[in-house]
Amino acid sequence: MKFSNYPITEEVKRGVEGLGFQKPTDIQFKSIPSILNGEDVLGIAQTGTGKTAAFAIPIVHKVQTQSIKGRKDGVRCLVMVPTRELAQQIQLVFNKIAKYTTVKIYALTGGVDQDPQIHKLNKGVDILITTPGRMFDLIAQGYLSLHRVNTLILDEADRMLDLGFYKDIQDVLKRIPKKRQTLFFSATINPKIKKLAYSLVNNAIRIQISPKDPVSKNVTHFVSLIEMDDKRFFLENIVSQHEGKKIMVFVRTQVRAERVVAAMDRVGINALTIHGGKDQKDRNTALKKFKENEVSLLIATDVTARGVDVPNVELVVNYDLPEIPENYVHRIGRTGRGKAKGNAVSFVAQNELDLLIAIEKFLGKKIPQMELSKREYQTVLDLSNEKSLGDLLDQIEFEEENERNIKNKKRRKKK
Ligand code: ADP
Ligand code: MG
Repeated sequence: MKFSNYPITEEVKRGVEGLGFQKPTDIQFKSIPSILNGEDVLGIAQTGTGKTAAFAIPIVHKVQTQSIKGRKDGVRCLVMVPTRELAQQIQLVFNKIAKYTTVKIYALTGGVDQDPQIHKLNKGVDILITTPGRMFDLIAQGYLSLHRVNTLILDEADRMLDLGFYKDIQDVLKRIPKKRQTLFFSATINPKIKKLAYSLVNNAIRIQISPKDPVSKNVTHFVSLIEMDDKRFFLENIVSQHEGKKIMVFVRTQVRAERVVAAMDRVGINALTIHGGKDQKDRNTALKKFKENEVSLLIATDVTARGVDVPNVELVVNYDLPEIPENYVHRIGRTGRGKAKGNAVSFVAQNELDLLIAIEKFLGKKIPQMELSKREYQTVLDLSNEKSLGDLLDQIEFEEENERNIKNKKRRKKK
């Protein structure tokens, strides 16, 4: 199958050509016809398999060809996502696909000034991609109405239907017409959330690919038993073995993210953090620098675990294991995207063994373990610049002490 054979407009075909895709991925192959048919879809496919284009291609076609008889334009498709970074990224994909059409696309997110956003909405937007917070602010202020939405898309659907966002979704459902097309996409879904998804649609959902193993087949992953206090030495070691290669590191908390950056800084390794405690400008800068290879080490919390598509991430390091098992799949899915292959390693300390068991239960299989002999383990510690720097400092102190002693002796002799 080629994209040129799909019943989509010539303009959309040209846009897709611009993306440089040769042929549809499995999830695209299976969901594009159903979406073009107006069916509701629950698309579950592994990370990095092109779910964005799977909904964006048919939706741009749909919006482009919809007749809007005599009524004023309004948002017709609403895409809801969990993070601002993801909203921006999806906007870029939509923009490329819609490049030769008049379809207007906009990512509306918080953390920035709202006036330019209001201006943009007033000029007319067809496809709105959004994190819920700012959207509700603008609805409350009367700048945005959703009553013309006929397509609702939840990307990272399980996350969007989970506790934190579910109320927002219900609120949106009250504001949009009952007659609509609803699309859910994610790499992970559990039975409870699946049931919830079913309850939100009128028609039978067309379920697409539902992989047994949610981990992308392009990702080779293993765990390594490493004591909490030694983790920084092992990260340093890995970074030195992957010079110039992009590595994404996930940690449990914002504080730990900053600590890891500080530890890397001590041994002369440059890294940036991205997490919910930073303002949006810094978050964007960090991601941009990482994308553009200005910095090759990015330390992140789970905020960036989902959806973010940075090309050529060579390795994902779980410095800490995630507390939510499915986040394991999303984190390591930041590598091995599209046709690329990737690797992932998780540092597991004694007190994280329970988390490991929970993750393996979720995956339905054991994660291979990289065994290190005592000697190999010790070598990593010995090789650290922090150690040699520490030794150096000890030596300087020792020599200074010696010098002081000699001087004191001389002084005493003089007396
Ligand atoms: P997912 O949402 O499934 O995790 P994305 O939509 O972010 O994946 O796509 C992952 C990567 O695969 C992107 O870099 C994208 O450009 C690439 N990609 C998507 N569809 C195709 C295709 N048909 N052929 C080649 N590459 C593709
Ligand atoms: Mg995605």
